[in-house]
Amino acid sequence: MGYSLRICHLYPDLMNLYGDRGNVMVLRQRALWRGIGVEIINVSLGDRTDLAECDIIFVGGGQDKEQSLICHDFRMVKGSSLAEAIEADAAVLAICGGYQLLGQKYLTHTGEEMPGLGVIDVWTRGGTRRLIGNVVIQSDLDGSDQTLVGFENHSGQTFLGSGVRPLGRVISGNGNNGQDRTEGAVYRNTVGTYLHGSLLPKNPWLADWLLTQALQRKYGEVELAALDDELEESAHRAALRRAGSQ
Ligand code: GLN
Repeated sequence: MGYSLRICHLYPDLMNLYGDRGNVMVLRQRALWRGIGVEIINVSLGDRTDLAECDIIFVGGGQDKEQSLICHDFRMVKGSSLAEAIEADAAVLAICGGYQLLGQKYLTHTGEEMPGLGVIDVWTRGGTRRLIGNVVIQSDLDGSDQTLVGFENHSGQTFLGSGVRPLGRVISGNGNNGQDRTEGAVYRNTVGTYLHGSLLPKNPWLADWLLTQALQRKYGEVELAALDDELEESAHRAALRRAGSQ
């Protein structure tokens, strides 16, 4: 039996900062290289797609303006099927503004309160300075010691509750809030992070972790074939050097 995955790209027209779209391209290509079929569905404002039918869900970052445009739709139209997907272990990657809206709430620096979906135990408040720059974190998400490289640009400071664990520990950069050296959050197979980049082209192990979770949930024990990641690894190493971490 051939494997296939349905990937949902949420709000591709509104939440797409610093090449976030590249994450979906990487998931698709790394699946196709292994002979895994891929269907990508773009889901935006007003669309009532059943997200619980998707294997992988991606939402990118957006500034406060875009977040306030999608906030109501995110909770009221997508909310219940997205929460269902997350609780049923779909693989989800949410970047920056999308990450913030999966949490309890986002209090912007202008005093607006944007309620989040509340499906992951984090909350965010807008700070007075922007946290900008290259980031390196250390993560054991896939059971080994890995690094992730990316680029952050946010004023929101995110704090983790007891229901999530951090994606990693900040080696350089700010991460969730510039204070506690945590970066991102993990709940079930959902990963929230501030790392743009795009993230996955330079961190292929995370792309493979997402693909593996999605395939195992659908088909049981699955091992991904190895790929030649020489270019990806050299981009990763260049980002580490730029951040002064190697
Ligand atoms: N508007 C949010 C912030 O500045 C998210 C920005 C982003 O997605 N890069 O915190």
